Amino acid sequence: MFYAEKKKKVHWVGMTLQEMEVTLEHMDEPKYRAKQIFQWVYKHNITRFDEMKNIPKSLIKKLEEKSNIRSILPSKITGNLTSGTQKYLFTLKDGNAVEAVLMKDKKRTTVCLSTQIGCAVGCRFCATGTMTYQRNLMAGEIVEQFLYLQDLSKSTITNVVFMGMGEPFLNYQNSIKAANLLNAKNGINLGARRITISTAGIVPKIIRFTEEKHRFKLAISLNGTSQKSREKTMPITETYSLKSLMESAQNYYESSKRMITFEYVLLKNVNDSINDAKQLKQLIAGLPCKVNLIPYNEIGGAYERPSDKQLQLFYSELQDARFTVTIRHSKGTTIDAGCGQLVVKTKKGN
Ligand code: SAH
Ligand code: SF4
Repeated sequence: MFYAEKKKKVHWVGMTLQEMEVTLEHMDEPKYRAKQIFQWVYKHNITRFDEMKNIPKSLIKKLEEKSNIRSILPSKITGNLTSGTQKYLFTLKDGNAVEAVLMKDKKRTTVCLSTQIGCAVGCRFCATGTMTYQRNLMAGEIVEQFLYLQDLSKSTITNVVFMGMGEPFLNYQNSIKAANLLNAKNGINLGARRITISTAGIVPKIIRFTEEKHRFKLAISLNGTSQKSREKTMPITETYSLKSLMESAQNYYESSKRMITFEYVLLKNVNDSINDAKQLKQLIAGLPCKVNLIPYNEIGGAYERPSDKQLQLFYSELQDARFTVTIRHSKGTTIDAGCGQLVVKTKKGN
């Protein structure tokens, strides 16, 4: 894939150090240059080969001929950073597009990255789920979203969430590879606990994630408290039952001793009653975890956001539970950059 001999130009962002070494060998260049290039593209975030100060001119010329540093291009920015949230549209090599979001508050600068073009999971309340699924993003295309946003943000990015378009666990290898690249010591060097991967509940991949002992934070989008009710909003529950999902979450905790965050999108008259809150407490009673309530963001579908009063009632009902509960007031809803609002026109049409 990354060998320079192939007709296609290779891209350095997305390669591991070992892949860079192999690529350089194929270019008849010494392996030790890989470490230098790795630092330039990830740590120093350069966009032109001639910025690589310790690389000889002749090699720079060769690199320019045979390769590119990146493959995606920012094509549109929506919103103003002074408001705290900005949304970015990127055009990919094949003409498709994805979105990423940059969010700032006092202490944190968080980016929300996409992992797929569209999403095949088809949750009924999610704009991405209404798009036709196109393809997985490559690890480089995921990391590049980060690098561009780091460049544009005036502050250092402190947190990454894989909560943009797509289901990271249906693009498992590329998502994990991207997370590892974000975490790499000689590169971007973002702490593993500052990287959160959110899944709609792809149970076999939660099991794999547990077995592989990754240190990234795991979030599960729960959104329903019984098999029946969850099936209605998240059809994936027909494939991976709520029971098997909860078992995989329990096993993850027991094996890693790390807490899962359960996301719970509150939909008016669907899953926001006091009874739902009680069921939620029961469902996760034995599991040390956190719960993040997300009031539904409008996407023009059949659902509605609960009233603030209902939200408070639901929240209060959870106060005597063992887990911590937070409410995520999605930023950027006025620019459609809130959770679940990311959608783009695809090359083949929506
Ligand atoms: N596919 C992954 C990650 C992307 S979705 C997942 O489903 O977890 C990120 C989060 O946005 C999920 O918790 C999802 O439940 C939530 N979400 C989707 N649509 C939403 C909407 N319209 N309003 C609020 N949150 C939404
Ligand atoms: Fe896909 Fe997540 Fe949206 Fe469901 S909520 S359709 S899994 S992106």
